Amino acid sequence: MKNKQVQAKEKIELNYDMVYSLADLLPGESVDYDLIYAAVEQILQAIGEDPSRSGVKDTPDRVARMYAELMVGYRQDPIEILNGAVFDEDYDEMVVVRDIEFYSLCEHHLLPFLGRAHVAYLPKGKVLGLSKIPRVVDMFARRLQVQERMTRQIAEFIQGVLDPMGVAVVIEGLHLCATMRGVKKHDARMTTSAMLGAFRSHAPTRQEFLDNISRGSPPIL
Ligand SMILES: [Zn+2]
Repeated sequence: MKNKQVQAKEKIELNYDMVYSLADLLPGESVDYDLIYAAVEQILQAIGEDPSRSGVKDTPDRVARMYAELMVGYRQDPIEILNGAVFDEDYDEMVVVRDIEFYSLCEHHLLPFLGRAHVAYLPKGKVLGLSKIPRVVDMFARRLQVQERMTRQIAEFIQGVLDPMGVAVVIEGLHLCATMRGVKKHDARMTTSAMLGAFRSHAPTRQEFLDNISRGSPPIL
């Protein structure tokens, strides 16, 4: 991960309503364990498996607990993620955090898509602690997603929280629903981007970001 150092100054008060609305959370404390448990048992039966066979008898439990973990982004408190890490700062150079690993589940097939996110913004008086950007990516990745929406949600979240000159997000994802199902392989990799503010209106700014993220990244898989 390559990025520019930002010296923290003064903590900023957040607009809680706006932050929650941008986080687009779901109600409830967690996923419904019992419902997932029963559904997985039914899937096993539907396949023709014997749910009491030793290899799969604990599978409904494992899957139900796994979903609680994979879907945690629906219920993460964005204030807790951000709090104490949004600062007043007159730094106005581009901040880039690249090669953020993410794992998500495609909402069409419930299969993983994974890859890397690259995030940049141009501060306008406020900066976000660098370790928080991967956490924001994670909050949106650990849900059922489509890559296009996830890209836009990350960009709009940072735009809303920091009100910078602009935000850029590029995501490279490998979609197992395409690779596993024997669709043409080149359909399996997808790059999406969201360019806001200066990254949209000012070509050299956009280019600086794109040049930065194209340098020396290893393949996703
Ligand atoms: Zn899919």
